[in-house]
Amino acid sequence: MDAQNPTEAAVSPFATDLHIGNSLSRKKERFVPLNSPYVGMYVCGPTVYSNVHLGNVRTFLTFDVVFRYLVHLGYRVRYVRNITDVGHLTGDSDDGEDKIGKKARLENLEPMEVVQRYTNDFHDVMRVFNILPPSIEPTATGHIVEQIGMIEEIIANGFAYEANGSVYFNVRKFAESHDYGALSGRKIDELQNQTRALDGQDEKQDPLDFALWKKADDSHLMRWPSPWGIGFPGWHLECSVMSTKYLGRTFDIHGGGMDLKFPHHECEIAQNVGAHGEKNPVRYWIHGNMLTVNGRKMSKSEGNGFTPDELITGNHKLLEKGYSPMTVRFFMLQGHYAGTLDFSNPALQAAEKGLERLMSAWGLLAELAPVEEADGIESAPDLDGLRDRAYAAMNDDFNTPILIAVLYDAVKVVNSVAAGRMALSAEGVESLRSLFEVFGGDILGLEQETSTGGDDDRTDGLMGVLCDLRAEAKANKDWATADLIRDRLADMGVQIKDGKDGTSWTFD
Ligand code: AMP
Ligand code: ZN
Repeated sequence: MDAQNPTEAAVSPFATDLHIGNSLSRKKERFVPLNSPYVGMYVCGPTVYSNVHLGNVRTFLTFDVVFRYLVHLGYRVRYVRNITDVGHLTGDSDDGEDKIGKKARLENLEPMEVVQRYTNDFHDVMRVFNILPPSIEPTATGHIVEQIGMIEEIIANGFAYEANGSVYFNVRKFAESHDYGALSGRKIDELQNQTRALDGQDEKQDPLDFALWKKADDSHLMRWPSPWGIGFPGWHLECSVMSTKYLGRTFDIHGGGMDLKFPHHECEIAQNVGAHGEKNPVRYWIHGNMLTVNGRKMSKSEGNGFTPDELITGNHKLLEKGYSPMTVRFFMLQGHYAGTLDFSNPALQAAEKGLERLMSAWGLLAELAPVEEADGIESAPDLDGLRDRAYAAMNDDFNTPILIAVLYDAVKVVNSVAAGRMALSAEGVESLRSLFEVFGGDILGLEQETSTGGDDDRTDGLMGVLCDLRAEAKANKDWATADLIRDRLADMGVQIKDGKDGTSWTFD
């Protein structure tokens, strides 16, 4: 699928039923783009100061499926996902050192070497998990001029002030005329009580205020001239600037992890409104929930965040074995994006088996021959009904677990037809193929994995070939060949068993 250039000339009729769980209204709302067939979507990208962990992958996977589905529906999607390469401080607020600057200092590198190294890593990981690239991937350092411009607009509108070479957003002033906290549900007075006194906060008129521009001292590695002196932009500003630059002052969808709702996204809204005056700069906010380990958010600082590399090799204390990227993708898609998802070895192993079932049925479809109606042979269920249920699942706020359940129903049909127990016309075989290709491939992004060359993989591959041949022999009522394969394998100590969901095997 070429996501950037959808071939569909028109938007699908199924698009009219798409509902999105909007975290701003806290309701599921029908999706009506501002300017159909165009859709603008902005997603907060990574801060490139370390390797991405599996938690990050979950968030980018969530929006990959949203992107894929919108493209499938025929929308022309401009998907912007930024790279944060300056301004994100270790305190996640206005305190601490710049994360990238700190890494550069510790490793004696140019900050841009750090940025390049982890941007490359991020891209490699996205590719491994079959997460599509966005249409535009802008960087914060590439948009310093625009960030200075936006600060000037906010100051001109009276919502920001300069203090000692830094510029701060005046939250109380903004809240007099706007609903600050609408997205995160925080009340300004409660926030006041929670705010700690931090370094440099004395420059702020109020501890609630946040930095738009920070003065850089001589030790700071990344710094730029500005009307307020040498400094660097605040973290929240880049997303306001890059989203509106590429998608307009009001745009359709803004996404990110749940942990970014406050302060990051709340501040983004305040900046956009403060600069441009549009009341609702983002029409649909989508927040992906967290990947947890034993109930705790996976994160670098918790020490429970393993990298995709560790996951694939199994080389981490939390992992009983290695798991393939498609197994992980499937595991994540088995949960709805808005719920937390807890990582565990048994859950991954169950996903591995589930995916194998799905992929082997999909593999069978390539060669599946139609089966004629006859006495004692079941008729196939209504395949349009299956397709409609698949759309209904995706239209209900991108409900991938329900979609997977629909695909399992299709697996049962494939296996029954392959075993010669169910009749299916050539047209029916074609609709099953298209169901798997569209929903399994284009939308869920699942793909057959090539063997990594290990003995286990090779055995699985060989057994898969033999089982496929046997299923085909049975479909052709060639019982002699089917029995021959079973008996010769039994002689070698391999037992194969036909279950209702296909064939499995065990070694003696
Ligand atoms: P960062 O590089 O820390 O700015 O994070 C990049 C993205 O990953 C953000 O959208 C975060 O919300 C998201 N993220 C971080 N940790 C997790 C997690 N444990 N589960 C899901 N998403 C996460
Ligand atoms: Zn952002």
